[in-house]
Amino acid sequence: MKAALYSGPQDLKIIEVPTPTPGDKEILIRVHSCATCGTDAKIYNHGHPRLKPPQIIGHEIAGEIVTVGKEVTGYAVGDRVQVIAAIPCGTCWLCTSGRMTICGNQLSMGYQFPGGFAEFMVIPHEVIRVAGVNKIPANISYDEAAVTEPLACVLNAQRILDVKKGDTVLVMGAGPIGCLHVRVARALGADKVFLADINGGRLKKSASVVKPDASFDMSEVKLEEAILAVTDGHGPSIIITAAPAAKAQELAISMVAPGGKVSFFGGLPKDAPFIQCDANIVHYKEVTLYGANGSSPQQNLDALNLIASGKVKVSDLITHKVSLDNVQDAIDAVLSGDAIKVVVNP
Ligand SMILES: [Zn+2]
Ligand SMILES: [Zn+2]
Repeated sequence: MKAALYSGPQDLKIIEVPTPTPGDKEILIRVHSCATCGTDAKIYNHGHPRLKPPQIIGHEIAGEIVTVGKEVTGYAVGDRVQVIAAIPCGTCWLCTSGRMTICGNQLSMGYQFPGGFAEFMVIPHEVIRVAGVNKIPANISYDEAAVTEPLACVLNAQRILDVKKGDTVLVMGAGPIGCLHVRVARALGADKVFLADINGGRLKKSASVVKPDASFDMSEVKLEEAILAVTDGHGPSIIITAAPAAKAQELAISMVAPGGKVSFFGGLPKDAPFIQCDANIVHYKEVTLYGANGSSPQQNLDALNLIASGKVKVSDLITHKVSLDNVQDAIDAVLSGDAIKVVVNP
C-alpha cells in the first residue's frame, strides 16, 4: 500500500509499504479521509518529542472496516468508522475519575502507532479497549467525520469552561480550531461570539465562513478597546486563545470580564512557555484560568453526533481536499494559512 512516511524534519515521502495485517484484537480499515492539523505541520518542521521517526503520521482519521480481528466484537466489515487520536490508558486514577484527556499514560495515533496518511491502517487494541472507534452516522461523509477529532478537542475545552446561554465568548485565533470554537460556542447557546486574529487575511476568510457577531483584525484595531464596545463595557465573560502566542494569553487575562474565564486552548512553544500574568487581575476580578488537552473517546462520539445532528457544521470548513500523493500540498496549505481545513483522501 501507499503511505506518507515521516523520517525527520522536512522529510515526508510517499512510499510503498506492506499492507499491515491486524492481530486478533485489532481492526484493519481502508482510510478514506485523514484531515491535517497544525500539529502535522509542526511535526513536519520540527518533529515531536513523542514521535520517533520513521512513522506514518496523520491522526484525524475516518475509514471503512475491511478486517475485524477474531476477538473483536461489535464491529463488522463495511462499517464506516471514526478513530480517536489521543489514546488514554483507561485504568489510571485520572482515567477512572473521568479525566481521560490528561491521562499520563496517553498514546496517540500517528505517534506511537502508524497513522492515517496511508491507504490502510490498523486500529490497535489500545484504541478498541477504550471505545475509541465510533460508527459514522449514515448522513455524514468520511471527510466530515475526519473533522470529529479536532471538534472533540474544542468540545472538551468548552465543557471545562461550561459555555452556555448568557455568555459572551471571544475566540483569539481564526485558524481551523478558532472556527470550530466559534461554532461550538454557538451550539452551546452563547449569546455572542467574537473572533480576533493578528492576520487580517485569515480572519476575513474565516469570519466569512463562521460569521461571528463581530471580528477584530488586531493588526488594525486595539482589541482591548474594541471588545469593550461590543460587551457593554465589561469584556467577554469567556476568552479562548486558539493561537500559540504568549501575547494572546496575556491580553486575554487583561480583557476578560470580572468573574470571567480564560482558556489557554493553544499551547506555547516548548522553549518559551512562560507568560507575564498580572496576578492582581486574577485576584481582584476573580478570573479563572483553564487549560485544555485533547479529547476523550466519549467526546469524540459526542462531537460526531454534533456534526450528524447539524448542530455543528464542518463541511464548509473543509476548503482543500488532496490525494495521498499530494500530502505535501496539504502540509503546505496548513503552513501557509491558506486553508481552513485540509483533508487527505488516500
Ligand atoms: Zn490534530
Ligand atoms: Zn489513564
